[in-house]
Amino acid sequence: MLDEMDKLVSLCKRRGFIFPSSEIYGGINGFWDYGPLGVELKRNIKDAWWRDLVHGREDVVGLDCAIIMNPRVWEASGHVGGFSDPMVDCRATKERYRADQLYVFVYLFPQVNHKGEPTEAWLAGLGASVEEAAQGPERKAAKLARKFGTPEQPPTIIPYLELSEADREKVIGPSTDERGTLTPPRSFNLMFKTFVGALEDASAVAYLRPETAQGIFANFKNVVDTGRVKLPFGIAQIGKSFRNEINPRNFTFRSREFEQMELEYFCRPEEATEWYAYWRKERFQWYVRHGLRSERLRLRDHSAEELAFYSKATADIEYAFPFGVSELEGIAHRGDYDLSQHMKFSGKDLSYYDEETKTRLVPHVIEPSAGADRAALAFLCEAYTEDEVGGEPRTVLRLHPRLAPIKAAVFPLVKKDGMPEKAEAIYRELKRHLPVFYDEKGAVGRRYRRQDEVGTPYCVTVDGQSLEDDTVTIRDRDTCRQWRVASGQVARLICELVEDPSRAIPGLGG
Ligand code: ATP
Repeated sequence: MLDEMDKLVSLCKRRGFIFPSSEIYGGINGFWDYGPLGVELKRNIKDAWWRDLVHGREDVVGLDCAIIMNPRVWEASGHVGGFSDPMVDCRATKERYRADQLYVFVYLFPQVNHKGEPTEAWLAGLGASVEEAAQGPERKAAKLARKFGTPEQPPTIIPYLELSEADREKVIGPSTDERGTLTPPRSFNLMFKTFVGALEDASAVAYLRPETAQGIFANFKNVVDTGRVKLPFGIAQIGKSFRNEINPRNFTFRSREFEQMELEYFCRPEEATEWYAYWRKERFQWYVRHGLRSERLRLRDHSAEELAFYSKATADIEYAFPFGVSELEGIAHRGDYDLSQHMKFSGKDLSYYDEETKTRLVPHVIEPSAGADRAALAFLCEAYTEDEVGGEPRTVLRLHPRLAPIKAAVFPLVKKDGMPEKAEAIYRELKRHLPVFYDEKGAVGRRYRRQDEVGTPYCVTVDGQSLEDDTVTIRDRDTCRQWRVASGQVARLICELVEDPSRAIPGLGG
């Protein structure tokens, strides 16, 4: 399974999707750069989101707020006081872990100690899920088994946060073979701090935003007062957020700088349950429509204990990544918590005058909050496929054409007989409409393979017949089927296929 992730990371590097940030200086943990193909993929995801949630609707407007806001915003939102994760340090290796992601696996080996008890090993593993966390301890237990015998039972699993002080001393940390090197959990605030202006004192402290949502709440009155919106309505924002994550891991999944796509949908309190159900379903379907079709996509409702105290209901859209099932997007019914908090802290009236009922009210809000980088990673994981064409293995990214970085590649079959000139003319015409790629180097089979690997859905080839009847072949990435069309039709056809790849292909009978 992890092997699958290694292959994807290597493809992303090799073909220019994603690079470690500042790599020539040894990188910096938790930061990533998107290369020429990755930037297109991520932009396509953000564009698809904006098109479907803002341009495609009449009840949502957009916003683009500053990353640094008045620090009072983060007091009102609860981030200054409460946006923290429990952190554990390893005294031996100086590594730092998120305590809520540490699980302890207690193995009992048959060999007895001097008291006649079975030999115990308390091995800590790190992971977002128990299955991910189990990997390290399993390896260590296998080694111990050679010395003390194979354990008869599967290990008991205890979250580190639930261990007593005495039991914590027995634990062998994820990166060491010594016992008792892990510290007790401490609270660690995830916001990046900086100073605004020339003075570096307490009055100048500001934060890089840990989410885009608060900029929307802080501008609620501005948007209402400019008069374009009536309840129910939404305000959408896409932008960078920053969190000083204790353990950035799993490629871009948990980064310290990332992009969010957030919608705050304001409605009358009595309609909020209905809107919550609507957005929960709508957001799940959005991922399906864009290609996350497998059983790896799930919708999970939070249990009552998991809910934030102000939330009436929350659901996570999750994806089974190769490293474990993890959150892609959260949809939360937040009641009037955020607007009420900002009214309290700013002293400004953020209520809404409802023309229909002639009353003032504080709207309730439904928040679908997604990460553009996590979405990109899920689309890449889902798309990554190894198969065989004509007995030859190939790697193919089966990305939805709307998300694919390059929509079509144009090739002359050979570099002579006027084929390059004709192919270049088609390339130039296509390039007026879509991102396309021209390639005349090497065997045509290899050129197809190179495009398959970066997810290009269509390849257009000019061959001998093209010079006689002005037709070209179009090859479909997923099925490898080819069909001929008049070269004058290519641009229109590819534009249509990119929008709706399920449409009937002329000449192939649908
Ligand atoms: P997690 O539990 O994984 O830390 P969260 O519940 O804190 O996530 P939210 O605060 O709900 O996440 O953020 C909304 C979305 O923003 C997430 O669903 C995810 O897509 C994205 N996101 C949050 N933190 C990160 C991160 N460190 N790296 C990349 N994307 C992130």
